[in-house]
Amino acid sequence: MKAIELAQHGGPEVLVLRDAEKPQAAAGRVLVKLVVAGVNYIDTYQRSGLYPVKLPFIPGQEGAGVVEEVGEGVRGFRVGEQVAYTGVPFSYAEYVSAPADRLIKVPKKVGLETAAAVLLQGLTAHYLVNSTYPLKRGDLCLVHAAAGGVGQLLVQLAKRKGASVIATASTREKTELARRAGADHVIRYSDEDFVAEVRRLTGGRGVEVVYDSVGKATFEKSLDCLKPRGMMVSFGNSSGKVEGIEPVLLMRKGSLFLTRPTLDHYISDRASLEERAGEILRLVASGKLKVMIGARFRLGDAAQAHRDLEGRKTTGKVVLSID
Ligand code: NDP
Repeated sequence: MKAIELAQHGGPEVLVLRDAEKPQAAAGRVLVKLVVAGVNYIDTYQRSGLYPVKLPFIPGQEGAGVVEEVGEGVRGFRVGEQVAYTGVPFSYAEYVSAPADRLIKVPKKVGLETAAAVLLQGLTAHYLVNSTYPLKRGDLCLVHAAAGGVGQLLVQLAKRKGASVIATASTREKTELARRAGADHVIRYSDEDFVAEVRRLTGGRGVEVVYDSVGKATFEKSLDCLKPRGMMVSFGNSSGKVEGIEPVLLMRKGSLFLTRPTLDHYISDRASLEERAGEILRLVASGKLKVMIGARFRLGDAAQAHRDLEGRKTTGKVVLSID
């Protein structure tokens, strides 16, 4: 089969289309012929070596396709069914062998492309607003990079919880997308001082929670946007890894709470995966959650997809079409 493989860590150029061994439907697993693979920021961390992986490595951990073969002991999936998943490695490829307990059936109304586009980022937005800091009606939250894949979904889900959303993004086009996703206020953080703006918009009070995926460039200023005993949710490193934080800083900035969550720990059992995915796919099917696919690339152009994602050129979701 064709797959994107990296033989060493590095820039996007290490992503090369090669012939790779087709995986098998071993016991408990399902062989999926992929139609679409989702591109996520974590794929760039694994490529660059920020999150080291065993080489050679096929990136990607999200996709959707058709069941081609069912391994021994698997119940509940049939050949020809449309399925999707998140958290299964080696997805920039024509086939993936997925553990059956990680697969989700794709509702007809959702379709394969949208399913591949929404699972990783949608489930992330879901756990952030429901579990990491469960938003309540009237809460104020700050969402950085709000025109991005996670960002647009996070803004929509935060609004559904009844929170007021202040959103940041780097360009006018991006702040407009954040507003269309439902943000009450938008800040162009490339030009404006977002701490001063948040203080002004909240009458000096600050927000209950910051959802910060940008990392290094925004971390410390995000703490200054929180009200006393607010919650800093640092969930990404788009601008680089946050380093050297001393707990006493949280005291000085208002007895703050800090968490650094990751999706795996919020869908580690089948029940929580089904509950979160079920809710997200129902919202998508009913048109209550909009999934914006901002860029489509062919599998062989994965390097360009990474360049655009890291170059802040994308909005919404980036996907790879596999045919
Ligand atoms: P995005 O679509 O959000 O793309 C990243 C965005 O980050 C850019 O478009 C850009 O928006 C912003 N950004 C700010 N500074 C930089 C910089 N220096 N370089 C590049 N981008 C920058 O990507 P995803 O939706 O895939 O992921 C968003 C973040 O969420 C990532 O950090 C990812 O790791 C994290 N994540 C974490 C998960 C978890 O469970 N912890 C799960 C899923 C994603 P702008 O131009 O508006 O600033």
